[in-house]
Amino acid sequence: MPHATDRPANLLPGAMLGVFGSGQLGRMFALAAHELGFRVHVFSPEADSPAGLIAEQETIADYDDRRAVEEFARAVDVVTLEFENVPVVALETAAAFVPVRPGPYALQMVQDRLREKEFLRDISVACAPFAAVDSLAEFRAAIEQVGLPAVLKTRRMGYDGKGQAAIHDSDDAEPAWRQVDAVPCVLEQFVDLRREVSVLIARGLDGARAYYGPIANEHSNHILDVSVLPAPCGEATARQAVDVANRIADALEVVGIVCIEFFETTGGELLVNEIAPRPHNSGHLTIDACITSQFEQQVRAICGLPLGATDPLRPAAMANLLGDLWQAGEPAWHRALAMSGVRLHLYGKRDPRPGRKMGHLTALADSPTEAAALARAARNALTS
Ligand code: AMP
Repeated sequence: MPHATDRPANLLPGAMLGVFGSGQLGRMFALAAHELGFRVHVFSPEADSPAGLIAEQETIADYDDRRAVEEFARAVDVVTLEFENVPVVALETAAAFVPVRPGPYALQMVQDRLREKEFLRDISVACAPFAAVDSLAEFRAAIEQVGLPAVLKTRRMGYDGKGQAAIHDSDDAEPAWRQVDAVPCVLEQFVDLRREVSVLIARGLDGARAYYGPIANEHSNHILDVSVLPAPCGEATARQAVDVANRIADALEVVGIVCIEFFETTGGELLVNEIAPRPHNSGHLTIDACITSQFEQQVRAICGLPLGATDPLRPAAMANLLGDLWQAGEPAWHRALAMSGVRLHLYGKRDPRPGRKMGHLTALADSPTEAAALARAARNALTS
């Protein structure tokens, strides 16, 4: 007689995958899950959301609504997440009923910039020099310690440059402190950047790992603008970035995808900027460029299935499409769609506010430079 414990620990197609968050990352996760025959149940406070529009099940409730979280957790076979600021209490509540991957520990480490930097220091990984700031007096002391120019960043809930203030002069301290509403912060030295790169690690239930990158990332107004795979950094830097990313993924015991964003300084140093234990905007190009996308890896990892090959099929670039593109009316989609090697992804959002991520374009070409040029040309064509 087969015994219950003889069953494989993995989840098979047909299982219901729960996701905290219902934005574009949840949507692309759901698309990958559907391709493998899984079902998806999303949980978020938002109605009419990118992932909610395509998931089999949707719960619209607050993350701190314990009863709603419990009901959701009982209805799914595993829970994952699409953004790292899901309140830890929601993950802990769900974890009493169902596996949560990645777990509350990884989230706790990265939700607070100070704890994240201390975690990096504990595992001997370099980041930009920093100091904790809890008051205006501490802020002035931190400026002395870290030096100028520097960036003041709120410890919690900062993303895409939100909750940040640049400091060039000690006279900037008071207005900057007001700008961040006098909440707990870290002051970070402003580093001279050669480029920004990211590495995505997929880590399976059995600790198996696969990586993508490094991917080169250009930002505009603090928001990711264009990503390119492979990044034009040297082999030694690439090896170092992958090694550091693997160490972080192991130390956080992540099951799923984790993105490590790096600063490569003009002096050739590699510093970790941020850790996101979830699929990441810089990995969107893996949908079209790699044998297995970051989203399919997330499905495989949280279900305890073997990870897929990550090899890029061709050099690729991704250009984000922000709401600004709609300013003069509907973009001319047919122009980008007519370009060979270009693919369009839209997230089903109705309201194209400036700065809002509405979709992206991926371009495949013979070299990373050509791919980047093609992605930009396709985006320009939308409004020309
Ligand atoms: P973050 O939200 O911390 O990822 O910051 C958004 C962007 O601001 C980064 O991707 C960088 O382009 C820039 N930035 C943030 N911190 C620094 C820093 N310490 N030195 C130089 N550039 C920075």
